[in-house]
Amino acid sequence: MRPLRDTADNALDPDERTMTEWFEAAGRFVTSFVGGLDDAPANGPDLPVALARRLGRPPPAGPGRFDDLLDTFAKAATHAMGTAGPRFFAYVPGGGLVSSAVAEMLARAVNRQTAVAWAAPGLVTMEQGVLRWLCSEFGLPAGSAGLITTGASMGTLAALVAARHQHLGDDFGDGALYVTDHTHFCVAKAARIAGLRHVRVVPTTADLIMDVPAAARMIAEDRAAGLRPFLVVGTAGTTAAGTVDPLGDLAVLAHREDLWLHVDGAYGGFFQLTRRGRDLFTGIAAADSITLDPHKGLFLPYGTGVLLVRDPSTLRAAHAEEGPYLRADEGALPNYGDLGPELTREFRGLRLWLPLHLHGVDAFRAALDEMLDLAAHAHDALRRTPGIDAPWHPQLSTTVFRDVAGNSATRRLLDQVHASNTVSLSSTTIGHQLLIRMCVLSHRSHQTHVDDAIDLIRAAAAG
Ligand SMILES: *Cc1c(COP(=O)(O)O)cnc(C)c1O
Repeated sequence: MRPLRDTADNALDPDERTMTEWFEAAGRFVTSFVGGLDDAPANGPDLPVALARRLGRPPPAGPGRFDDLLDTFAKAATHAMGTAGPRFFAYVPGGGLVSSAVAEMLARAVNRQTAVAWAAPGLVTMEQGVLRWLCSEFGLPAGSAGLITTGASMGTLAALVAARHQHLGDDFGDGALYVTDHTHFCVAKAARIAGLRHVRVVPTTADLIMDVPAAARMIAEDRAAGLRPFLVVGTAGTTAAGTVDPLGDLAVLAHREDLWLHVDGAYGGFFQLTRRGRDLFTGIAAADSITLDPHKGLFLPYGTGVLLVRDPSTLRAAHAEEGPYLRADEGALPNYGDLGPELTREFRGLRLWLPLHLHGVDAFRAALDEMLDLAAHAHDALRRTPGIDAPWHPQLSTTVFRDVAGNSATRRLLDQVHASNTVSLSSTTIGHQLLIRMCVLSHRSHQTHVDDAIDLIRAAAAG
């Protein structure tokens, strides 16, 4: 019989020196990547076929070299949209805080399981601390809590299932929920997954926000037709134009009609940390659930969403199953595996906890405030640009504009700006009009970067 190998020979765990070399090489890569972002192109080159073939190769039977593999990764990462750069104003930017990336590495290295609180009570306490702080920022009552998810889509699904379970029970085929055509499609997607067929689209006003009296009329009609209205979605910052539904009016409507009020704050929710945001979101404290995306408004790397709920027992009632091998007793700390679709989960909380404790909350408040100023500045400059129509003053950090000559001219304008490969914008359609969106939401974006974009837009508009 062959002798068992000593653990020191175990090829899957490196010796101390090797481990240190890996960390140093990875650290050098991160430092130079972040240092180069200011000058990086907005879009990397197209992926050459030969490189794609090499990147997709199956793993070898024998060992590779860390340096070579890091190099391969770096090459693959440059053939990409420049999402982490300071001139990325397309879609919803987020930047990617290095402190959060370090947190992620640490959390992964200790590899604790946070699906059940007893497995890592200290870490779950840290995660709860972040969630409780968020609940209090939004004015949710004591006892409210939540769940850190992989993104707002997962949070929305858990919220819809909780609302469905509480308001409709198991026989939910006649349940109806209310959105607008500016509501993010993740709500319709979650509704479909949750088996909810009646997603009713309420008209919006000229300001692109929900027409609440129209919602009330639709609800009355639906009830008369035998449907069971149970949920209304308000958006605290729409993806298209960054507008904010009248959350106070929605809270009144939800209370009167006995609806679950869900607020989608995936893009705009963290502006609650600013005074201007809090004023705009008046009424949000009445929400039954709020989705947030720290990978947008707290500038974290992608893959982190938050769901806050007024009453976490609604999440548990809708999701908990008792596995025969899990101890089910729940103490003061929640078992996150009972609150949503996932069971096994990493310690997601450190991604938020470390940046928030390291930089302090005021650093985030200031960054978000700066973004409101930058969007107002951009809007002002665009409004004064001949040939450009910027119809709505930004409520948050997104400004939309078009070429007065129409949709094809607007498309050409966007192409011309992108030809420089230094700035990323995106587009949206409102009514029949194509509009260009400029969304400021990276902690790396400052006035100089916004001005670079404005200069390019003005030059393109001047033809
Ligand atoms: C991004 C976004 C979502 C979806 O969030 P994911 O994190 O991508 O799942 C939902 N609503 C709004 C308003 C968004 O901007």
